[in-house]
Amino acid sequence: MSHEKVFDNWGVPSLEAVLDARERRVARKQRLVETYNANVIAFTMNIPGPVKNTPCISACFFSGIEALLIYMKEHDLTEVEEYLLSTGPEGYFIFPVTASQWAVKRKLVTFEEDHPIGRWFDFDVMDSTQRAITREEIGAKPRRCFLCHDSARNCGRNRSHSVEELVAYTEETLNNYLQMEGKGVFNETSRDFSAGSK
Ligand SMILES: [Zn+2]
Repeated sequence: MSHEKVFDNWGVPSLEAVLDARERRVARKQRLVETYNANVIAFTMNIPGPVKNTPCISACFFSGIEALLIYMKEHDLTEVEEYLLSTGPEGYFIFPVTASQWAVKRKLVTFEEDHPIGRWFDFDVMDSTQRAITREEIGAKPRRCFLCHDSARNCGRNRSHSVEELVAYTEETLNNYLQMEGKGVFNETSRDFSAGSK
């Protein structure tokens, strides 16, 4: 199945554009559930700071898709749409209604936790009744902060880290990851993702 690809630009999006994008993502998921009569996964990047997409962020996104398709091989995922927007890259996948949406969500949470840059990955699952599957209902812990061991929610609320600090850490980690991946370190050191990812 071929999938649709859309690209706009790398500019800094307005707050309005970011909020708009959030609404459009929900609408896209609903449309895909209806079109394919399937469960839907939306893959986005979790990027602190005003800039939501760069060549580096997109490269990490594509690398994430590659690793995801290998990791989720037995779950029969099909990528159907891809958007490289100033508000961030978005990838949409469908999987059969006969599969357990909770098992898939559980595995995606493990992927987010185990992949070297999984903290910057975000996978939303919407089932074929258009219901979002939450981390809470599958018994997963809330997401950790980028920098410390507290929850992201606590650090966000307490403003424990400056945006500059979070942005610098993100750039450093994502760039290092791409470099390592180019050298093959990613393949050799990461047990769970070694099955042919490159
Ligand atoms: Zn923190």
